[in-house]
Amino acid sequence: MERIKAARGSALRCKGWRQEALLRMLENVLENGENQQELVVYAALAKAARDWKSFHALVDSLKPLNDDETLVIQSGKPIGIFKTHAFAPIVIMANCNLVGRWATSEHFYQLQEKGLIIWGGLTAAAWQYIGSQGVIQGTYEIFSAIARKHFNGSLAGRFILTAGLGGMGGAQPLAGVMANAAILCVEVDEARIDKRMQVGYLQRKTGNLNEALAWIAEAKAKKESVSVGLLGNAAEIYPEILRRGIVPDIVTDQTSAHDLLYGYIPACYSLEDVRRMREENPEKLQADARASIAREVETMLEFKRRGSIVFDNGNNIRTQAYQHGVKDAFDIDIFTEAFLRSLFCRGNWSVPLGGVVG
Ligand code: NAD
Repeated sequence: MERIKAARGSALRCKGWRQEALLRMLENVLENGENQQELVVYAALAKAARDWKSFHALVDSLKPLNDDETLVIQSGKPIGIFKTHAFAPIVIMANCNLVGRWATSEHFYQLQEKGLIIWGGLTAAAWQYIGSQGVIQGTYEIFSAIARKHFNGSLAGRFILTAGLGGMGGAQPLAGVMANAAILCVEVDEARIDKRMQVGYLQRKTGNLNEALAWIAEAKAKKESVSVGLLGNAAEIYPEILRRGIVPDIVTDQTSAHDLLYGYIPACYSLEDVRRMREENPEKLQADARASIAREVETMLEFKRRGSIVFDNGNNIRTQAYQHGVKDAFDIDIFTEAFLRSLFCRGNWSVPLGGVVG
């Protein structure tokens, strides 16, 4: 299949620049997305369009759209074009609106199976995603806010432990280095590690925990920054680091823990196991994912008791663990309340953040 790239230059394919700009935004989220073939942009399952048929229908609707018309889109599928007026919105869309007692993951997956809904994330179905660069400033500002609040303004000589190098989490290693820290990012999918290295967001890669910890210890001692991608599962690596008596200065996680079926990989599962179990036994896959999350969050809580600054980075990890019986999961702070609010109060925020705040 042909790879989608956003058009560049001054050639107009639509009837006006408003339509052309929106078409380029749609193409751009796919160009920068994590898995174009599946139309997945980021956050496990956040999609740009309902399916490929809908994608082409969107393109075919935008091209002949007149200035006094409005295209209506429901969860990534165009459903109508109405005569409006030149000052009306050119596109109106609503994505994944599940409310009240229907707002459950079970109900969402049922509708998704029937091809009736997509999860749009904040920026995927809204055609605004620009790659991990979109969250670099936000992640850097959070690390810097932690530095100011807890480490006399500097993360030099400090160790950040995190996980997930996907669409959003992929910004963490570069943001950590920009904040002068030694940052270890645990990632279960080697292709994601390689992608971050290729674009220069991640400096080093290893599948060996001893080597990763040695690099971190060396950088800490010299007060130098370093970013290390470690191939492994956070539900196994975090407890092992704790068992060794190592206490990071800052601990978080940016895996797609909000999604137990498509997002978080349970301990002892390969990526292939997950794909197979999704078909064969989705209930067990979700139960195992939640159990692994609970183990990871219990470890994060113990790091906190031993002095680490620990926070939920907008992926609902606390809620998942709480639902598995980790009663004190909410002793972990959420980044918005702990670090972002003060930045907002000072008007020091220009990047939209789209995490799941549970
Ligand atoms: P993504 O799905 O693109 O990437 C998640 C990564 O986690 C993948 O590379 C996956 O292989 C890895 N992973 C899954 N389970 C793992 C495990 N057990 N151990 C190690 N690695 C594992 O998702 P994303 O776009 O990076 O978003 C991650 C989370 O951040 C989502 O829950 C999203 O909602 C949230 N989010 C936060 C913010 C924020 O500003 N804080 C903004 C947007 C999204």
